[in-house]
Amino acid sequence: MPASFQRELQTAVTAVRQAAIVCRSVQSAMTTASLAKKDKSPVTVADFGSQAVICRRLQLDFPDDPVIGEEGAAELRLPSGVDFLNRTVHECAAAGVVASAVEICDWIDRGGTSEYRPRFWTLDPIDGTKGFLRKEQYAISLALLVNGQIEIGVLGCPNMPFENKPDGTGVLAWAVRGHGAWMQPMSEPDATPTRMTVTQISKTADMRFCESVESGHSSHDWSGLIASQLGMQLEPIRMDSQCKYLAVARGDADLYLRLPTRKGYQEKIWDHAGGILVVREAGGEVTDIDGKAPDFRQGSSLTQNEGMVVTNGLAHAAVIAAIKTHAPAEMA
Ligand code: AMP
Ligand code: MG
Repeated sequence: MPASFQRELQTAVTAVRQAAIVCRSVQSAMTTASLAKKDKSPVTVADFGSQAVICRRLQLDFPDDPVIGEEGAAELRLPSGVDFLNRTVHECAAAGVVASAVEICDWIDRGGTSEYRPRFWTLDPIDGTKGFLRKEQYAISLALLVNGQIEIGVLGCPNMPFENKPDGTGVLAWAVRGHGAWMQPMSEPDATPTRMTVTQISKTADMRFCESVESGHSSHDWSGLIASQLGMQLEPIRMDSQCKYLAVARGDADLYLRLPTRKGYQEKIWDHAGGILVVREAGGEVTDIDGKAPDFRQGSSLTQNEGMVVTNGLAHAAVIAAIKTHAPAEMA
């Protein structure tokens, strides 16, 4: 185990595991009736609960660290939010965090920083809400940034398969800059960590890419043109959340393409920071669609970047070139 940021890593991993307990409990209570009604309230409760337990842990261990998180408790503090708040309090208690409604709201609001700081955490308590609601893939993503560098990245992926273990095992993945990328089964903190490495495939024709399920989050038309230019025959893996970063880090896929669907959308730092470090430490490369490194000194959005391109590092330039060649007129 690396010596640097060891305490921070322990805290982050513990916090994400606890948040996964909340998310799993809420998801398992979702019925086919609520699924059919397209009731979004489970993901709201899990989102708030996940952010509350993670920010609580960060508050206990690193009280001076700001957190740029996706959620805020404003909605929960309104009279109309009382039902959500009570459900969130209940779910946190079931995961071992017995606290008052006020404490829960205060922890959630600890994630309310949005400006850049020399040292901060960024958190997506549930990335891939659509996947969560479909009972497919979602991720809990937590990262520590110091002077704009990602030092720690943790991804909790409660529905991802783990090697030959039974379905539903889930994966807890983490990386410390300079010390590799690792994974364990979600609920086995004592298991020997497995080191992750990207694939060694260098011919683009043999590569498989992954992308968002949502064509509104990443252009499927554009990726289709790139795939045919590069001779990629395999069907893309379409998956929600930063589980796509995990897929590249451990070699389930060779590439992850996130291609803007419109000019001006700014990617959020919490949708990427955790995943980026995990891929880089597994030997992969991550830039935006222009080949520029993501700039995490801009606050909550990646204002200096467009889209994201994640590869095993062996054909990054070729992929960037193909992206340019096929850029839709409005993106060029
Ligand atoms: P994914 O699960 O890969 O589809 O990504 C989910 C994330 O997409 C959410 O956390 C949102 O922050 C983000 N998102 C929302 N709208 C857009 C958009 N127009 N383009 C790219 N990402 C988006
Ligand atoms: Mg997200």
